[in-house]
Amino acid sequence: MKKTHLTQFACFGGTPSFAEELPVGQINLPPWDEFEAMFADIFQRGYYTNHGPLVAELETAVARTLGVRHAICITNGTVALAIAALTLRLAGEVIVPAFTFPGTVQALSWAGLKPVFADVDPTTHTLSATTVAARISPHSCAVLGVHLWGHPCDPVGLQALCDDHGLQLFYDAAHAFGCGHAGRPIGGLGRIEAFSFHATKIISGAEGGCLTTDDDEVASRARTIRNFHQAETFANVGLRINGKMSEAQAAMALLSLRHFDRHRGRNRRIFDVYRQRAATWPDIRLYDFPDGEAHNYQYAVLEISPAAALTRDELITLLHAENVLARRYFSPGVHRLSPYAEQPDPPALPVTEALCRNVMQIPLGPRVDAEAAHRICDLIELALAEGGSIAPRLRQASHTEARTG
Ligand SMILES: *Cc1c(COP(=O)(O)O)cnc(C)c1O
Repeated sequence: MKKTHLTQFACFGGTPSFAEELPVGQINLPPWDEFEAMFADIFQRGYYTNHGPLVAELETAVARTLGVRHAICITNGTVALAIAALTLRLAGEVIVPAFTFPGTVQALSWAGLKPVFADVDPTTHTLSATTVAARISPHSCAVLGVHLWGHPCDPVGLQALCDDHGLQLFYDAAHAFGCGHAGRPIGGLGRIEAFSFHATKIISGAEGGCLTTDDDEVASRARTIRNFHQAETFANVGLRINGKMSEAQAAMALLSLRHFDRHRGRNRRIFDVYRQRAATWPDIRLYDFPDGEAHNYQYAVLEISPAAALTRDELITLLHAENVLARRYFSPGVHRLSPYAEQPDPPALPVTEALCRNVMQIPLGPRVDAEAAHRICDLIELALAEGGSIAPRLRQASHTEARTG
């Protein structure tokens, strides 16, 4: 039943709109029979890891799908990023956004590099040549851009800036599998790109990741760093790690790839509902993608204007009570998280700070369908209409809870 009055919100005593929780994130599972068949093969071969046949097959499939010379499977996206940094033989400062998943930045620290935070563009939410230029110093050696929400992170502007200043450019493409730039798949931008195949991403190996590059030398270094073994054949490569992907992970990821178009199609149908409904919302922007470019529609991201009748956090409280597990993304920014928050001279990142206050994700994945998306929109519209009366009531409700709880 559609709620028409704020007293019907679950946080004010009404019944939750959804009987089950709707999380954000993809969480796509392959059909059981296909999974079983793949695992029966693994057991039969008795070959579980160390560059097995499924990893080889996945590397070939990813390289073909993304139109790159090399795909190198890695145990997860964060280790892939650290290995990417090591392949570039960097020393010094790497310019990176703070409006990202902590793994982007932590990977640099594990690779022995110093992250320097640059602000992001208010429209794209990514680094731009302008925001990066302001942070270049004599110690800068590289820029790590993030294709946030699958949006290409200013590839033309950043490449030109990096070429001018002799900096390396590489990318965190964790959100961007199946997304395009200038008619080509993301994967061949900068010197090397890192993907995540975590369970919440559209391609899932449960855990997993991948590096892609058109540079033969960088690819060969990545393969060497990923694997401790064969040490006698590779002297002088420096730090190495066990970054290998197992056959079990590759099986999951291959099935995910097999069903990619179907998952993307479903994402797109849900996204279209949000797009159509959000067009009439005065103080909420749905982060949108141009129709001319390939996209995975992995995330539905809302930006709540400070002029809106209720805040981002109030809207999240309201939706959670309805079992709609909307999430703050990313809040706080990585510059405000340990160990970076303890650094002297915190950088001024006004756009990042505003986005950390106002941005949230709403569910978009296998547990959501178009009908559920419409009902989520109904809740948001009611919340916007009743916004002025909601904040005082929420405060009252939390007081009552504190007294009785
Ligand atoms: C998921 C993610 C990562 C890390 O990937 P893992 O596979 O979980 O290690 C890095 N950067 C971004 C932007 C991500 O969303």
